[in-house]
Amino acid sequence: MSWERNIRRVVPYTPGEQTNEKVIKINTNECPYPPAPGVEKALKELNYESLRLYPKPAADDLVNAIAKYYGKKSSQVFVGVGSDDVISMAFLAFFNSDKPIFFPDVTYSFYDVWADVYRIPYEKQALDENFRIKPEDYYKENGGIIFPNPNAPTGIYESLDMIEDIVKHNPDSVVIIDEAYIDFGGESALALTDKYENLLVVQTFSKSRAMAGMRIGFAIGSEKLIKYLNDIKYSVNSYTMNTTSLVIGPIAIEDDAYFKETTGKIIKTREWMKKELSALGFTFPDSLSNFIFATHKDYDAEELLKYLRENKILVRHFKGERVKDYLRISVGTDEQASALIEALKKKIK
Ligand code: PMP
Repeated sequence: MSWERNIRRVVPYTPGEQTNEKVIKINTNECPYPPAPGVEKALKELNYESLRLYPKPAADDLVNAIAKYYGKKSSQVFVGVGSDDVISMAFLAFFNSDKPIFFPDVTYSFYDVWADVYRIPYEKQALDENFRIKPEDYYKENGGIIFPNPNAPTGIYESLDMIEDIVKHNPDSVVIIDEAYIDFGGESALALTDKYENLLVVQTFSKSRAMAGMRIGFAIGSEKLIKYLNDIKYSVNSYTMNTTSLVIGPIAIEDDAYFKETTGKIIKTREWMKKELSALGFTFPDSLSNFIFATHKDYDAEELLKYLRENKILVRHFKGERVKDYLRISVGTDEQASALIEALKKKIK
């Protein structure tokens, strides 16, 4: 068919499984606790008649609440439909050169998809044998840089010194740090955004603020970067944020005590899981995220995935050459983590 010649073809990203089945769902790094209590109240009180109207295109209330929480100006904050939307717009806005953009060979598997969609050349930089970023790989000329910190799916956190070193070496590119998992023990690069005009930090409400279903992500950077992002947004879709998100997003971010309580619990459970998984013979890079990337020398990862599935425990497996022996296990509640360990104890002799 000749019309198919003009189709923009891509190999899409594969999201983790969502299911209505009653399972222990530790496959997509969601928060095992509900959103802040004020969110429930606000949802019940939501004026349904207000849905008749378009949402505010600038998403002011949400932008202002995020700016206030992080001590930034509202003109330094951009919001989107989850950080996926924010990063996708950032690719479109900032990665617009003939030179390749750089990201690690083992990382969030959406980056090469966006690069392909937008026809952005890219060159993956191999992590070292311990899955660590080699900063010198990012000193070469490039069209932009992106990586998560902590990295996904490894969970490894790299120091702010290293991030600053990479930013310093790249005054001619935009450097994006994807901090989807920063609230589980790492120190954010947000502090560096006032110092470097070309540094964009992206975060999300999906993990640490328990609102993956609401799709709220944001970026913080220099006023210039944020203006360029808004120019793209208003050239693609002015109304990215729905009315409900705009009402409950600020409530979620204002409840700092609840945020600290839940992230604290997740960190505690994670450390317990590390001990138990080690005792069972698993090895894993030390994670500062809400998941553990574990491998076992005597057991095939796909076989374990299948075994856990049969026991109604969902974890994630990726087929890439360097990661195929690993399972990415999200940190759940203590009960979920215990159920996982009990199931593994029955399998691993
Ligand atoms: N970045 C990384 C590294 C992720 O793992 C995810 C979650 N899949 C995202 C961004 C996107 O998350 P969200 O769109 O829910 O904010």
